[in-house]
Amino acid sequence: MIKSIEELELKGKRVLLRVDFNVPLTDDGKVADDKRIVRTLPTIDAIIKGGGIPVIVSHLGRPKGAPDPKFSLKPVSEYLINKLGYQVLFCTDFPSESARKLTTAAVNGEIILLENIRFFAGETKNDPELAEKLAKMGDIYVNDAFGTAHRAHASTAAVAELFSEKAAGKLMMEEVNFLQKSTKNPERPFTAILGGAKVSDKLGVIENLLNKCDNIVIGGGMAFTFLKAMGNEIGKSLLEAEHVELTKNLLEKAKSKGVKILLPADVAVTDKFEDRENPQIVSASAIPADVLGMDIGTETVKEFEKIINDSKTIVWNGPMGVFEFSGFAKGTFAIASAVANATKNGALSVIGGGDSASAVKKLGFEKQVSYISTGGGATLEFLEGKELPGVKALEI
Ligand code: AMP
Repeated sequence: MIKSIEELELKGKRVLLRVDFNVPLTDDGKVADDKRIVRTLPTIDAIIKGGGIPVIVSHLGRPKGAPDPKFSLKPVSEYLINKLGYQVLFCTDFPSESARKLTTAAVNGEIILLENIRFFAGETKNDPELAEKLAKMGDIYVNDAFGTAHRAHASTAAVAELFSEKAAGKLMMEEVNFLQKSTKNPERPFTAILGGAKVSDKLGVIENLLNKCDNIVIGGGMAFTFLKAMGNEIGKSLLEAEHVELTKNLLEKAKSKGVKILLPADVAVTDKFEDRENPQIVSASAIPADVLGMDIGTETVKEFEKIINDSKTIVWNGPMGVFEFSGFAKGTFAIASAVANATKNGALSVIGGGDSASAVKKLGFEKQVSYISTGGGATLEFLEGKELPGVKALEI
């Protein structure tokens, strides 16, 4: 069982709070996108309102296990103070005794933010010693960092084992609830939409979803390995040759389980990996040798839209094409629009972070889908049927 933060006694407690403040920074070191910060504010506010003191732990970027000013959380601290009006004590000397004293001296209304936990090599190694030092900084533990829940790190896994009083933060709870709701007992038809560049990232997801979905819609670069497996020539399109056999097996399994796998019937192509204003559209079974597929074509959009419109549960991870180029964004945008439309008609739609989330936001459909996850990698692992270490560690 996992407790929610509402079930914890917070008054007078130092709450060691793992969040995902891994936000992009501008060249001059300012927060470029505050979405991840904003999504975790309800948890921070709940701790303060409940009389507790948040002692926040996060990572930012990928420092190499040692301090690196490029990845300091200082800009986040300044953002919390100057833009959001919080009283933040930025702590750069953890795990010293004075850092611990800062937590015991803090008063309700103040927040302590520890410097980037990945400045310690032990973080990504799930080091018990680092976890013990962290545990001294709080009386109880809350994890709201869904974006790193698929990693067993010292601040997400080992440290949680050291607390008897622990809970999922509001965002973590919401993320897990939406993913469970969409996959455990989905209202049918249940459709998964998968795209993006790498088929290898999603083979496990497809394998697992074959036991749950009615339809799996596949677009993006990963579709070409499937098209190849079906005997098509795919020109210079993305191919993971080593996965063609596995892909073939998946197609056969889908057939025997009665799961419909939908692949592009036509694709937008180009001779170079460059934007094209009005790209040529060719049949997926007749891709010329000297071009590469960059987006799903107009016929495919119609077919995919129909399936999506008839669905009652939808999960989506990965763009339908190279949507960073406007000429090849049409497929992704049409699918985002179809998902929004299906949601309006009563479907539950969950967007699994990453590029599909950006596409939905860019199009202004953010409020027209049921849920946008903050964790791309974590959602994928959940959809693969894997247990997320950051969630499991919260079990009591
Ligand atoms: P992923 O991280 O695997 O979800 O992949 C996302 C990336 O896939 C985006 O940057 C897209 O530009 C890229 N992508 C989507 N479709 C294609 C394609 N047909 N060819 C090459 N890259 C693609």
